[in-house]
This record gives sequence, C-alpha cells and structure tokens, in this order.
Amino acid sequence: MNFLAIPGQERAIRLLQNGLRSGNYSHAYIFHGPPGTGKVRTAMAFARALLCERQQADSCGTCMECRKVDNSNHTAIQSISPDGTTIKIEQIRELQKQFAYRNTSTSSVQLYIIHEAEKMSVSAANSLLKFLEEPNTRVVAILITHNGQALLPTIRSRAQSVPFVPLAPQQMAPLLLQEGISPPLVHAAVQLTAGIEAAKELTQVNWFAEIRNVMIQLAKESTGDHHSALLTVQQKLTKSELAEHLDTLLDLFVLWFKDMVHMQTNRTERIVFIDQQEYIGKTAFSRDVSEWVSCMQGAMETRNRLRAHVNAQLALDSFLVSMERR
Ligand SMILES: [Zn+2]
Repeated sequence: MNFLAIPGQERAIRLLQNGLRSGNYSHAYIFHGPPGTGKVRTAMAFARALLCERQQADSCGTCMECRKVDNSNHTAIQSISPDGTTIKIEQIRELQKQFAYRNTSTSSVQLYIIHEAEKMSVSAANSLLKFLEEPNTRVVAILITHNGQALLPTIRSRAQSVPFVPLAPQQMAPLLLQEGISPPLVHAAVQLTAGIEAAKELTQVNWFAEIRNVMIQLAKESTGDHHSALLTVQQKLTKSELAEHLDTLLDLFVLWFKDMVHMQTNRTERIVFIDQQEYIGKTAFSRDVSEWVSCMQGAMETRNRLRAHVNAQLALDSFLVSMERR
C-alpha cells in the first residue's frame, strides 16, 4: 500500500515524506496515537517507500521491492510483537544479531518494526537503547505504540515522534459507507472509535451487531414491560459471550439517549440509530431533554461501576429500573 491509502493522517505522512524526499530520514521513529488510526499501515507504506527502487516520496507499487513488501516476504523488514504480555530482551537481542549478520551482505536499507512498543520490558528497552545509540545509517527503527509516554525518555529523545490523530466520526463514516458496510453499524462504530481501522473492525465482528440489537431491545422493553427487560439481561447478556462487552452496551445506550435529544432539538442528521428513526420519533418527546440527559449520565455511571467489577446483573437491573423512574 502507499500513503494515499491512509486517510486523515496528513501530518504524520508529511513528516515521513520530508525524510524520503531529502534522503535524510531518521534512524528511529515513534508512531503514537489511538488504536486503529493507521499506524501499522503507515509503517508498511513507509517501509515500501524506503525500499522501492524508484526512491521517491511514495512507493511505486509495481517494482520487485514493492511486491516483496506486499507479499510480506521482504527480508529487509523485521517485526517484533509482545511474546505473551511483554517484549523480552531475547527478542531485541535476536533482532540485533540478525542485523549484524545482514549488514555485511546487503547495501540497501533495513527496517525493524516494534509493535506495542510500550510492552518492552525494562531490560529489552535498555538493550534497544544501546542499539539506537550506535545508529547504523542503513537501519531504520519504527516503534508503534498507543502510549508514547510509556516509552523510556532516553528512547523518546533518540527517535522522531510521529503523531497519529483521532479521526472525527463524520470523517470516517463516508469512507466506510463507500465500502458498502451496513449503515446502522457504521454510524454506531464511528462514534465509539478514534480511527478508521478500529471502526471498520467493530463493524465486522459479530458481537457488535448482536449487542447493538440487544441494546435496542432493552431500550424498548424497559419503557414498557420491565420484567422482560430484566429477563433479556439475564438471557442475552450476563450469561452469554456478550458479557465481555457490557461497556459497549452502555456506550450504545448513551448514543441512544443522545439520539432522543437530537430528535427533540431537530438535529435528525446527527441520529446514530438511523434504522430506528421512526421509534425514536415516537419516543423522544415523551420526556424532557433534561430527563434524557440524566438517562445518559445513568448509563455512564453504570459503565464505570462495571469497570469497578460490581455484579453485572445487579448493576444493569438497577440501571434499567432507574431509567423507568426518570
Ligand atoms: Zn517500487
């Protein structure tokens, strides 16, 4: 892939292309920013541009080098990911050994990509630091992390920071709709994620569509037949695979109550549950805006309580009961 395939990260790409144009690129980069904002894809695009025979600000996509990168069999690229919960010193040493060996046999640029770099153990980070302190002009390091602050300051000071920014829902939605993804899923997913890849992933996992359906069912039941709402919680949530995703359920509830406010304030273009517009239209005016806002707060409080590991069934039951009273 080339840089054009990465939307919304113009600043990061400009930084990298400046280095490519001048041939004066850094020996180490830290790609940091929220999950799903395109850091890995950009690392691969940058690697391809560095290795491309044409040596321009972006790769050609057709030369032998580009094709090897696309087929993931380019020997000049090494990747490291956590082994279990951490990246261990042995992994960094192995990497260094491989580069020491290859340096004698090749003259082109070599890259290594460290995924989830914040998970390096202290000894791994110190070992990497020594590597960065003796820069080899033909070796480029790319450290990828959600949390740049978690890296050692000594590593940060030796690397160029490449920030990836969160994307707004209205930037992401059209791109995903263009791909033919179900609009109700797209409109919800872009509200819950900060990057196009994270949003797309959410639209493609089964549990997301399921929990969205359960949430709609609960919202409807809780205003009418309260008993069946409690039963739904028991049958479809707390004792099912969806129990792992209750925070998403409550995030969706917040969006649902916001939709009620959008309907009342005549901002229907902002409605997230676009397949429920008719129901929302009938229900939104049954309460004041302030009551919907208090429902939103109830959902957020419940999400926080679940994070603190209270009993899920009890927390959800009391959330549904409180919605009724409000
Ligand atoms: Zn090429």
